[in-house]
Amino acid sequence: MIWKKTLNSLLALSVIMALMGWNVKEPKPTPSEQLVGFCQQFDRLQVDIRECNISPDSASRAFQIVMMNIRQTMTELDSCRGSGGAGFVYPVRGYLPKYSIGGRGRGYRAKNFNLFDMDVQGSHPAHDLFIRDGNQDNLDDRLCQPVDLLSFSGGVVLATDTTWQPGSELRGGKYIWVYDPCLNGLFYYAHNNQVNVLPGQLVKAGQKLGEIGRTGLNAYKERSPTHVHMMFLRLDSAYLPQPENPLTWLQEAKVMKW
Ligand SMILES: [Zn+2]
Repeated sequence: MIWKKTLNSLLALSVIMALMGWNVKEPKPTPSEQLVGFCQQFDRLQVDIRECNISPDSASRAFQIVMMNIRQTMTELDSCRGSGGAGFVYPVRGYLPKYSIGGRGRGYRAKNFNLFDMDVQGSHPAHDLFIRDGNQDNLDDRLCQPVDLLSFSGGVVLATDTTWQPGSELRGGKYIWVYDPCLNGLFYYAHNNQVNVLPGQLVKAGQKLGEIGRTGLNAYKERSPTHVHMMFLRLDSAYLPQPENPLTWLQEAKVMKW
């Protein structure tokens, strides 16, 4: 009888503990799961900035924190190992940089750039990389095929937009942000026709991110030839984004064949 009593009290105790959450151990999120959470925060922040839901000061502080966390998590994942140095891939598959980089690289204007303030405009800290698409159908005119957007370097996809539709005010259209932990910087690819990666996904240089397109408020207009807008922002010691001109890297990048 005693053993039955003991068993009953043990059962009662475990029920109480379960109710109080003592023996329900939450598994600790893995670095990859944490990364997905930080990417969601990064994405939310970009939306809040462009919808003016957050002041430029608060946005910049939130950016510092989320990028610090992302950098820390990427270090835990050791994602930079073996991928440092050269090995950049030209983001437009099958195109030579000298025929594809807009204005031979003279379209780059970093002055007055502010990622956190939608009222500051007029800068273009980016290169527009063009494809042959005279009839503006998002296909290469000679091959009649979509043109792949390839990741310039390795990293993690931070955020994407896949919702853009004609009539939308969103200037970047279907965009993709990638953080490269080796360079400690962010790449932004805008105006894509298609996005083939998900936030939190690790990518290698040369991996397909999407397909070049004409999405975005101005990129969709007839006056705009089909291109990808590519920006590089290096993080400084305070985790704030500083535009840096990747022209030489682009000119020397490896070209991937069709
Ligand atoms: Zn551009």
